[in-house]
Amino acid sequence: PSGLEIDDVHLSYGRTRVLRGATLSVESGRTTCVIGPSGSGKSTLLRAVNRLTEPDSGDIRLAGESVLDLDPDRLRRRVGMVFQQFNLFGHRTVLDNLVLPLRSVRKLSAAAAQAVALDRLAEVGLVHKADHRPSALSGGQQQRVAIARALAMDPEIILFDEPTSALDPELVKGVLELIAELAGRGMTMVVVTHEMGFAREVADTVAFMDQGRVVETGAPRQVFSSP
Ligand code: ADP
Ligand code: ADP
Repeated sequence: PSGLEIDDVHLSYGRTRVLRGATLSVESGRTTCVIGPSGSGKSTLLRAVNRLTEPDSGDIRLAGESVLDLDPDRLRRRVGMVFQQFNLFGHRTVLDNLVLPLRSVRKLSAAAAQAVALDRLAEVGLVHKADHRPSALSGGQQQRVAIARALAMDPEIILFDEPTSALDPELVKGVLELIAELAGRGMTMVVVTHEMGFAREVADTVAFMDQGRVVETGAPRQVFSSP
């Protein structure tokens, strides 16, 4: 099997039951948008996939392998993650933000890491910013760097946690266009978003979460037309 399977995951923080039997299946090559009210567990669900948080029960499988059986470094190479707040290293250049994980996670030589990093920056249109600090870039550019960094790991899947929520409105479009382009190329992605137009147009599948469960999944047309 390929893709991602989240199977009956329960997760509590103390007495707060955040995931209450969340189940979601993401086919390889497809884009799934996860929507739902604030606090419904969307972010926690993504974080459980690359083990930034651990479920109390249930299973999460990547290409058929339980993520709990994978070495965390190996898992993070296979699962890319893009956060709302970019999470770039602020005191490093844009280029180093890609080179460092290419060296430490993919174990590339300095020269090979630099070559891959420049390729990925070219893909997101930011080679000319390679020697800048992230703070010299717009929020939209910083998020594109974060996406380039995820792509640099050559992951099987990329998880996006509200990738445009921290951006000024005029910067949202460029980031959504980049994600749409990746979807068009057949990247496997899960995108938590409040951008309904994006979900409607780009997602193969929309999953609606409420109170710690995925309560509906389907093609955008189905999910958005239901009463
Ligand atoms: P969403 O992404 O749908 O807004 P989250 O997964 O961020 O939902 O959060 C779901 C619930 O879990 C919220 O009530 C949030 O406060 C709580 N929560 C998330 N992370 C933690 C944590 N580390 N400790 C305690 N509660 C948390
Ligand atoms: P987001 O909406 O991007 O998930 P949050 O502000 O909900 O942002 O969470 C930011 C960080 O704080 C996350 O690491 C989350 O797990 C943690 N967190 C969220 N809610 C709580 C909480 N009630 N108690 C402790 N940690 C929390």
